[in-house]
Amino acid sequence: MPSEQANPFHSAQQQFDVAAELLNIPEGIRAILRVPQRELSVNFPVKMDNGSTKVFTGYRVQHNLSRGPAKGGIRYHPQVDLDEVRALAMWMTWKCALVNIPYGGAKGGVIVDPRQLTLGELERLTRRFATEISILLGPEKDIPAPDVNTNAQIMAWMMDTISMHRGYTVPAVITGKPVNIGGSLGRADATGRGVSLMVREMARRQNRNLESMAVVVQGFGNVGGVAAQLLHEMGCRVVGIADASGGYYRRNGLDIRAMQAYVASQPQRSLAGYKADGMEPLSNAELLELPCDVLIPAAMENQITDLNASRIRARLVVEGANGPTTPAADAVLADRGVTVVPDILANAGGVIVSYFEWVQGLQEFFWDEHDVNQKLERVMVGAFEQVYNLAQERRLPLRTAAYLVAVQRVADATLTRGVYP
Ligand code: NAD
Repeated sequence: MPSEQANPFHSAQQQFDVAAELLNIPEGIRAILRVPQRELSVNFPVKMDNGSTKVFTGYRVQHNLSRGPAKGGIRYHPQVDLDEVRALAMWMTWKCALVNIPYGGAKGGVIVDPRQLTLGELERLTRRFATEISILLGPEKDIPAPDVNTNAQIMAWMMDTISMHRGYTVPAVITGKPVNIGGSLGRADATGRGVSLMVREMARRQNRNLESMAVVVQGFGNVGGVAAQLLHEMGCRVVGIADASGGYYRRNGLDIRAMQAYVASQPQRSLAGYKADGMEPLSNAELLELPCDVLIPAAMENQITDLNASRIRARLVVEGANGPTTPAADAVLADRGVTVVPDILANAGGVIVSYFEWVQGLQEFFWDEHDVNQKLERVMVGAFEQVYNLAQERRLPLRTAAYLVAVQRVADATLTRGVYP
């Protein structure tokens, strides 16, 4: 049966099960790691500009805290649900463990289309949601960051809200903040930069020249937009881009800067209506199946499924998004010899520089951008090498190799700490 609408939490559990089996993780530890530790659901009112009151629903899920405080983004999207947030929280646990930063995994979300809100409504929704989940938050407890449809301004409101409650400024409770209130230089670009580094490293391993590579990117936000720009600067030809408004293809390469300037000029921050010579519009589904060397899904989950995996023409998929490939599609891609650099590795740049931001905030000692980017590269390339070498050694897909490293670290920490009481 086609599984286009795969439940992301079931996918996350399936991916975990594969690693737990290969690692021979004891049954009790397996049962602990298979489910989130804490889940908070909140229904909260927001005063709308027309005088009415609307009730919104949101979640904060902490998957595992064995290796440190919980860390993970906040998503605003009409399709947010508890299982999606559970999956995203579990993926955060593995991601932090894989790149060896001292955090557990968490994620949050609110069911809302922020484009339907005025700026005032968005601020009130953010401050009330931050208040509702504040019982979980704190620099040593749980540290949110941006995700889909949230940004540095929203993080500033969250940090300010928590600080107002405490009566003093608590910069390290949130990362992805604006630089003028304790954000880190390099954070805004970090996830996309990490994705571009993974393309570079894979090209090196395959003896490919970046100039000869055609790239397609789905999603033109924080992750996809920066990845497209940096890969273009590194010499790749970015031939296809899509956002929620649809896809855009130009065989000789798209003008990424012009597209970014266009999006920035639109109130809806979208590519809708963008025109250029020689460019063809196409659907998101068609975009994923374009002839290219590298496909970067950097939008939402469940984009590469058993329905389209056999038609993906890229030889390399680098997952900018979390959970873009279903387990069923993974198997089809592996059979066809398509290499997938998995989300927990490919998009870890964001949480790595969030960690740097937290460290800088706690120490009140800030680094320059060159320093941040250099440290990011060292961590990302180190994790890539470990995963790549393990995959070669054991003839495993990169995802399985990444899970073996990550799940072992979390299982070890859980085992060392023991089961309380
Ligand atoms: P964003 O809100 O900045 O951008 C999302 C982009 O995806 C937008 O261009 C939007 O139009 C597009 N999009 C939405 N639905 C789409 C669809 N059905 N088809 C095509 N395009 C669609 O979000 P982001 O921060 O770039 O996050 C994108 C993905 O990367 C998510 O899976 C997120 O969890 C993951 N991620 C983000 C970060 C981060 O630091 N922001 C870090 C790691 C992973």
